[in-house]
Amino acid sequence: MSKFTVDVMTLFPEIFDLTMNIGVVGRAIRNGIIDLKCYQIRDFSNDKHKRVDDYPYGGGEGMIMTAEPIFQTFMHIKGTRGVSPYLIMMSPRGEVLDENMIKRIRTLKNISILCGRYEGVDQRLIDEIVDEEVSIGNYVVSGGELPAMVFLDSILRTIDGVLSSPDCYKNESHFDGKLEHSQYTRPRVWRGRKVPEVLLSGNHAKINEWKSKQGKKL
Ligand code: SAH
Repeated sequence: MSKFTVDVMTLFPEIFDLTMNIGVVGRAIRNGIIDLKCYQIRDFSNDKHKRVDDYPYGGGEGMIMTAEPIFQTFMHIKGTRGVSPYLIMMSPRGEVLDENMIKRIRTLKNISILCGRYEGVDQRLIDEIVDEEVSIGNYVVSGGELPAMVFLDSILRTIDGVLSSPDCYKNESHFDGKLEHSQYTRPRVWRGRKVPEVLLSGNHAKINEWKSKQGKKL
C-alpha cells in the first residue's frame, strides 16, 4: 500500500508537533501509514535577514507573504518527493470544506498544504503553483495553521488503516447526509437520567432501527 504523503509549508511548524503526535492521526504517522512533513518557509528565504514578507503594493493594512520563499520551499518538496504534490492553500476565499471535498481529496496520494500568515500571500505565487484554495468556514483566523490542522484531520482519519475500520468514519455525522444518533455510556442512570431502554435490550435489529431513526436528516 503506497503511503499518503503530506508536506506542509508554514512559518510555524512547531504548531503541528503537538496535534500531529496525538490521537489516531499521531498513531498513523508513527505507524508509517501517513508520511507528514512540515517545512519552515523562512529556511528557504534568500534574504540575509530571512525575510518572508513585504509591504502591499497599492498600500493597505499589514504585510504580504512574498512569493519566492514559498516557491523555493515547494520546489524542494517536489525534488524530495520525486512527484509534484497537489497543492492546497488554506484561504478564507477558498471553497468551504465539507464531506464531498474530503471524499475527493482523500483519493489523491500526495498533497501539500500552504499556510498563509499576515494579510495573505502574493497572488502571483497562487497563480503559479496553487491547485486549490480551501476555507474552513466564512470567517477569518490569523493564520493557515489551525485551518490546515482541521482540514488534515478530516482527511487523514478517512485514510485506510488510520481508524480500525472504515465503519468508524462512515457511521459518523455528515458522511451520508445525516447526523449521528446520541451516544451513551456507563452508568445506566446518571443524576436521574436514564439510558434509552432499547440500548440495553440486546436486540440488535431494534437497536439499529433506533439508531437510524434517532440520527437526524440534515
Ligand atoms: N487578508 C485575508 C485574510 C488573511 S488571514 C482576507 O481578508 O481574505 C491569514 C491567513 O490565515 C490566510 O492567508 C489563510 O491561510 C489563513 N486563514 C484565515 N482564515 C481562514 C479560513 N477561514 N480558512 C482557511 N484559512 C484561513
